[in-house]
Amino acid sequence: MMMNRVTVIGLGPMGQSIAKSYLAKGYEVHLWNRTRSKADDLVQSGGIFHSHISAAINESELIIVSLTNYDIFYVVLHESTENLQGKVVVNLSSGTPEEVRKAKDWLELFGAGFLSGGIMVPPPLVGKKDPNSYTFYSGDKAVFDRYQSHLEVLSRTDYKGDEIGLAMLFYQASLNVLYASITGIVQSYAIIKSANIDAKAFEPYMQGFLNFLPYLVQDANIPEEIDTKTYDGSQQSLKMMLAGAKHVTETSREAHLDYSVPESIEKLFQETVNSGFGENGTTSIVETIRRTNA
Ligand code: NDP
Repeated sequence: MMMNRVTVIGLGPMGQSIAKSYLAKGYEVHLWNRTRSKADDLVQSGGIFHSHISAAINESELIIVSLTNYDIFYVVLHESTENLQGKVVVNLSSGTPEEVRKAKDWLELFGAGFLSGGIMVPPPLVGKKDPNSYTFYSGDKAVFDRYQSHLEVLSRTDYKGDEIGLAMLFYQASLNVLYASITGIVQSYAIIKSANIDAKAFEPYMQGFLNFLPYLVQDANIPEEIDTKTYDGSQQSLKMMLAGAKHVTETSREAHLDYSVPESIEKLFQETVNSGFGENGTTSIVETIRRTNA
């Protein structure tokens, strides 16, 4: 590839940070975005905006895409399929593994290579070499090896394998933890707030739970229990946890709060108890989760 040249398609907060990082490293950065004004600061810093996406794609071999989702990926790239021959598209937009697999096939029709990436970096930390930030990648290993040094400009790279859907699988598994955690945290504050007590009053207790998280991740053997299907309920049975889960749902209901999330947890516990795992531990809910998705 022509060294130190990149095209960035999509200039939301993430795309802007990506482009900024390449500019800071002295790359020639070509830009396209539906809304022109989002490129203004980048152009001030030396970025080159193209009013037609085909022109932006023509300028570089490496095309980094950062859009809201894969539907928009097609809307945007559909206009320039004849320019994709010989390019390598690295899509850092969120999607599903299946959407990623379809996009690979679609790009192959036009002679373009493809890497999928799940970027685990908030925009302000892109390009900052933050030790806790990384991006999952998957796709052809030779293509990844060829571009890795350019991708490392954005964050540490974590290559998950040739199967193109793997980066998105790891990325969505990570987002699941994030979304579920934030929702649980906010619901707990709402429960406290329902009694006209400042949410802040619960903060020290929330901190206590955060201190407990390393135990769950490191000592509680959750992955081992899932891999070996041994769900130890000797200290906390799922039956006991179900009784407690019902009270969380009811407490939210009594407080006139939305209780859909606690209720869905309760239902998951109940179904697993009904399947005979009442004396097992909470990790046995994976039996219900996996069966539901089979
Ligand atoms: P945005 O959703 O703000 O990015 C939107 C981009 O998509 C803009 O370039 C926008 O163009 C474009 N777009 C949206 N709809 C259309 C459309 N119909 N036609 C053409 N272009 C469209 O997201 P971010 O920049 O924050 O994120 C980009 C990706 O990065 C997402 O997939 C997100 O999940 C992921 N990500 C984001 C993080 C974050 O903290 N922001 C962290 C990690 C990953 P326009 O400017 O014209 O609206």
